[in-house]
Amino acid sequence: MEQGPPECDEVLASLTDYLDDALTPGRHEGVAAHLGVCPGCAAWLAQLRATIAALGCLRDGVVPPPVLTALRESFSR
Ligand SMILES: [Zn+2]
Repeated sequence: MEQGPPECDEVLASLTDYLDDALTPGRHEGVAAHLGVCPGCAAWLAQLRATIAALGCLRDGVVPPPVLTALRESFSR
């Protein structure tokens, strides 16, 4: 049910799992393909990566919800 091309909302919701390699292979490919053609989501990914690197929290496979909320708000502006 998750094999269709993902929309931006789905991609953004899957980014942390994408970075953590927690998506199914098909889903991972879909997100990667979307990121290749969508500058907005690509920029969001770069920001998320930078934030995660700064916090050093990806090793736990967890991004604190407040961080996600802040990123979402900054992205939607
Ligand atoms: Zn997008």
